[in-house]
Amino acid sequence: MNVRIRLAKRVDDSYDILIQHGLGKRLGVQIVRDGFGAKYCIVTDTRIGRLFGGKLLRQVRYAGAKAELVSFPPGEKSKSLATLEKVLDKMISMGFDRKDCVIALGGGVAGDVAGFAAATYMRGINFVQVPTSLLAMVDSSIGGKTGVNLVKAKNSAGSFTQPKRVYVCPEFLAGLPRSEVSNGMSEVVKIAAMLDAKFFAYLESHTEKIMSLDMKTMEKVIKRACELKARIVEKDERENNLRKIVNFGHTIGHAIETLGNYGKFSHGQAISIGMVAESEVSKRLGGLSRKDVQKIENLLHNFGLPTRLPKYSASSIITQTKKDKKASGGKVTYAVPKSIGKPYSRKGVIGLHASDALVKKSLGVLR
Ligand code: NAD
Ligand code: ZN
Repeated sequence: MNVRIRLAKRVDDSYDILIQHGLGKRLGVQIVRDGFGAKYCIVTDTRIGRLFGGKLLRQVRYAGAKAELVSFPPGEKSKSLATLEKVLDKMISMGFDRKDCVIALGGGVAGDVAGFAAATYMRGINFVQVPTSLLAMVDSSIGGKTGVNLVKAKNSAGSFTQPKRVYVCPEFLAGLPRSEVSNGMSEVVKIAAMLDAKFFAYLESHTEKIMSLDMKTMEKVIKRACELKARIVEKDERENNLRKIVNFGHTIGHAIETLGNYGKFSHGQAISIGMVAESEVSKRLGGLSRKDVQKIENLLHNFGLPTRLPKYSASSIITQTKKDKKASGGKVTYAVPKSIGKPYSRKGVIGLHASDALVKKSLGVLR
């Protein structure tokens, strides 16, 4: 006996990323007009809540919708099951149902937690993203990865759930600390190095404008970074192949983040070091030229990012890379550029494998 359940699916999860200087002034009205929900729950950290949350809440209410705000302390520690529960409890107390909508307001932490809350509440309700950190505007708000950290492993509970829309207000960046600008630029350098040599050159010639948050320049940078990430996600939502492109620097970067207990280096700093180390790996396997490796290192340095290895031993880093959730059967894949603007691939498969000895040598160059 066999009962088949036919569930071949055809869904259209397409969505827009709206990038508009000045959008913040009427954001709540715009969201309510777009109509992704009857009631709204704004999820954010307390710092962003103070900066933009209260205003957004008033705007949404002014537009005639019921809304409340739930917040948690800023920082990676809040990307936890405990915060998820707090957010879900808030939605219960608001009487949320499937017609309501979550607004993820903030950096990658708020985006990931709020998205996961929306993905799990009553098995899934709408959410929209309002990224406020540069990292969130150029990377984490796009592509539908949501989730929280477990005590023993980062990002280990989560889902692929796409937002209904992403609202980028570049003016929100005005008060962003310099270290957070660097943090976001690390992901921008990553995507340019992998996919767009012209954009990479633009970043080289606009470093100062970017670091001083010149708005016209920032809009261009955000738009191009979003376009590049969008093209990848469109072709490979679930990271079967092409989406591995966004992992440049992340294999060694994650190892460094973990060895530093997530406190010593920010994500952007860790992947900056990771990118330089993995560029060395690419060079040794016939990819990047010496000159290109130097260009990547210089650009990261000029964005205020570290490019030298901390005092962890090469073997502790290599051991850690094998525990990464992206490693399969202990085999580590490095997604690296072949030349600036082009990913390394073989027969259409992104990435390369490198022996421990070769990775060790590459790490040695960064001391
Ligand atoms: P974050 O959310 O903690 O924000 C960084 C800091 O900047 C916080 O203290 C926040 O309060 C502050 N901040 C944010 N916007 C501000 C503004 N406009 N003005 C002043 N201060 C502001 O961290 P993040 O760097 O944005 O994101 C990192 C997280 O994103 C990590 O958890 C990472 O795993 C995740 N991430 C997810 C994806 C994805 O695809 N889902 C991709 C990359 C990173
Ligand atoms: Zn990253």
